[in-house]
Amino acid sequence: MDTPYPDPLASLNPQQREAATHGTGDTAGDTRPLLVIAGAGSGKTNTLAHRVATLIRQGADPQRMMLLTFSRRAAQEMERRVGGVLQQALGLPGTQALPNLPWSGTFHALGARLLREYAPRIGLEENFTIHDRGDAEDLMGLVRHEIGFSDQKKRFPLKGTCLGIYSRVLNTRDPLALVLQSVYPWCTQWEDELKKLFGAYVEAKQQQNVLDYDDLLGFWADMMAEPTLAQEVGARFDHVLVDEYQDTNRLQAEILLGMKPSGQGVTVVGDDAQSIYSFRGATVRNILDFPHRFAQPARVVTLERNYRSTQPILEASNAVIAAARERHAKNLFTDKASSQRAQLVLVPDEAQQARWVADQVLRQREAGAALKAQAVLFRASHHSAPLELELARRNIPFVKFGGLKFLEASHIKDLMAVLRFAQNPRSRMAGFRVAQLVPGIGAATATRLLDAMGEAGDPQQALQSFEPPAAAREGWTELASLYAKLDDAELAWPADMELAKAWYLPVLERLHDDAQVRKLDLEQLVRLAAGYGSRERFLTELTLDPPEVTSDQSGPPLRDEDYLILSTIHSAKGQEWKAVHVLNVVDGCIPSDMATGTTEEIEEERRLLYVAMTRAKEQLHLLVPQRFYVSQQSGGGDRHVYAGRSRFITEAMTKHFEPVAWPHAPAGSLAATPSTAPVMQVRDRARAAWR
Ligand code: ATP
Ligand code: MG
Repeated sequence: MDTPYPDPLASLNPQQREAATHGTGDTAGDTRPLLVIAGAGSGKTNTLAHRVATLIRQGADPQRMMLLTFSRRAAQEMERRVGGVLQQALGLPGTQALPNLPWSGTFHALGARLLREYAPRIGLEENFTIHDRGDAEDLMGLVRHEIGFSDQKKRFPLKGTCLGIYSRVLNTRDPLALVLQSVYPWCTQWEDELKKLFGAYVEAKQQQNVLDYDDLLGFWADMMAEPTLAQEVGARFDHVLVDEYQDTNRLQAEILLGMKPSGQGVTVVGDDAQSIYSFRGATVRNILDFPHRFAQPARVVTLERNYRSTQPILEASNAVIAAARERHAKNLFTDKASSQRAQLVLVPDEAQQARWVADQVLRQREAGAALKAQAVLFRASHHSAPLELELARRNIPFVKFGGLKFLEASHIKDLMAVLRFAQNPRSRMAGFRVAQLVPGIGAATATRLLDAMGEAGDPQQALQSFEPPAAAREGWTELASLYAKLDDAELAWPADMELAKAWYLPVLERLHDDAQVRKLDLEQLVRLAAGYGSRERFLTELTLDPPEVTSDQSGPPLRDEDYLILSTIHSAKGQEWKAVHVLNVVDGCIPSDMATGTTEEIEEERRLLYVAMTRAKEQLHLLVPQRFYVSQQSGGGDRHVYAGRSRFITEAMTKHFEPVAWPHAPAGSLAATPSTAPVMQVRDRARAAWR
């Protein structure tokens, strides 16, 4: 294409360019699906963005492209990158509007969009409510209670475990017996009961017009198994592109294959060495089998130059992954020389670890690195607790990814339930919660109300004419009048939100001592609401992409504030920072003692450390506290345990690291090896994990 502007493809290396332009220009007519398989930081995501931009420049209609990413954040980042490339290519000034961007988002978000659109044709009602994990767990708990499994059957799996099993069966398409045997061996005795429970759960979802996360994929996959629909949906998209393909599950592969059986127009990129979601049913087989999944074999492009990290960081990361049992050999090189090795920092305990990290972060900021250019990564969300305290003490703002979500606070859940119940009066979960916010109404009355609403032809009518117990009458009248108003079709969003909040404020004051603080959260929620076009969109999109917790505990931060990133390693996928700290690089954390069962699990933990290390561009610090705190939620008591450096950093690898000991250097500290005594009780933690 002739333009007077610099060709953005000129910045790509030959392999990247090959991938970005596959099927266009010289290779027009090559309709093979495309796989880019390459190591961390080699520009896979960047290449994908250039490919999208190139296709658009060549005349592809963005509305006929589907771009699937691992998170909403990743989708936004991708849109930004594509926009940037297009702007450069078209010579548009920064403010000028870009052409439409593709359908982009997670499989779940795009699934929700498609299912709503095709609802009438696949036997769904369009106004379905989406349950997040918490809601789904609660519904599972309710159903479990209703069919009598919670009380009578002692030691029956907890609601979270039940949902985990259900979800795994759905996402892997493995039979229940196999899932129990291989992943939940302590639940095998309950196979029959679980079957019954899952049947009742599915029933309840249907009755209440609710879909959970798994349904968003499952129903989409089912839809793609129906040839007419698959063809119709497939034909709407000329291109389907997927980032982080190594972490997709069986359903996602089926969806892709169903939409594009010939493979034409399919592009996936990923790195098998970074597959870290098999615990959730993802399978690295998807990427390994991709070359021969479609009617025509794929074109495979590999990338070898790493643009992200300095040579010493790359060497240390490569050493860790080179010890993996199974992997596609990849040779990564970089020309970013540096004399600064990654640091292996030995500290006495987690409190000191927090101090060291906070000091270091401030030092970096003084040296010119914004807080946002730095990240602290950890294995499990609760590992950052001591650091969060330390940061708060020193007034260092942070945002935490992958931890507790804003929407999980009970007052936020209350207000959301009020809106959800208005949107979908058949949602028993929402109704149950809302009804009990009225003084004088307990579980029994709430159930009576919901039953009456379920049986009535017009649920709103049933709600209005419901007779509560005498003590609840006054409160009930107010609630009924709220729902009469919310039901008004003329009401324009976010006026519903204002009404709901006005009704809820007195409830909040009655229920919580710290109502003043919680009120700020509600205001935050109202502000968020204003950014969505309708009640339905607000409810759907917020459920699929909940805002993160920030250092002041009140929802998402202002856009241009500077803040430190705290993230679980799982949530840090695909991202990069100038400086990265990894907490608790000790045996028991990485690998997690919950994962030391099988070789596969240990190998996944190794890849996790690799993912963490490869996020760093210039500085990498692995922290090794000699003692760390174990919270035994299962009742075994909290205690400190003595740990040793993670087994993934072997003695031979220490040459890649600069040893640091703080506050003082114990002799031979770096060579410390793990003791052979068990560092904690695996079973207790495993149980706690399913709470
Ligand atoms: P991951 O496996 O972690 O997802 P990735 O392979 O997707 O990594 P990118 O995030 O696309 O890698 O790229 C890593 C960094 O390298 C980014 O900062 C990107 O801008 C830069 N980069 C990629 N390709 C080039 C290039 N051709 N020239 C200069 N910089 C590049
Ligand atoms: Mg990437």
